[in-house]
Amino acid sequence: MKKSILLVFTLMALGCNSNAQKTSSKQFPIQKTDMEWKAELSSQEYKVLRGKGTERAFTSELLDVKEPGTFVCAACGNELYRTEHKFNSGTGWPSFDRAFDDSNLVYKPDNSYGYYAVEVLCADCGGHLGHIFKDGPKETTGKRHCINGIAMDFVKD
Ligand SMILES: [Zn+2]
Repeated sequence: MKKSILLVFTLMALGCNSNAQKTSSKQFPIQKTDMEWKAELSSQEYKVLRGKGTERAFTSELLDVKEPGTFVCAACGNELYRTEHKFNSGTGWPSFDRAFDDSNLVYKPDNSYGYYAVEVLCADCGGHLGHIFKDGPKETTGKRHCINGIAMDFVKD
């Protein structure tokens, strides 16, 4: 009995540990100090990308973008989303039903909303982009990538 309890604790400790490593900022190829990010980003970009902030709804210039192109990370240029996967969610934040390429993003469970949500980070620089919710278009993926426009730049095709 004691042995099995010990095993459970060991597994839990291992589980937490590997989880911590996955979400540690050390995994991101682009590493910069807080001072460097502050110098490179605008104060609004910094607040969202490095401080996990959220821009005010309906303030993003990218909200109404409809021409074909790619939405890239405002901090490092990593390709995040494509216009063809953008939809009008009515929430006031640029919304997509899927990533350009899942390997360009890091998904991290976030329970701070009190219901299912996933935080989206740039896989190259670790910048905070937004969240994924499960109320996206049912006819496609059912997911809504709710992304801060300030965290992205738009590159026309
Ligand atoms: Zn990035």
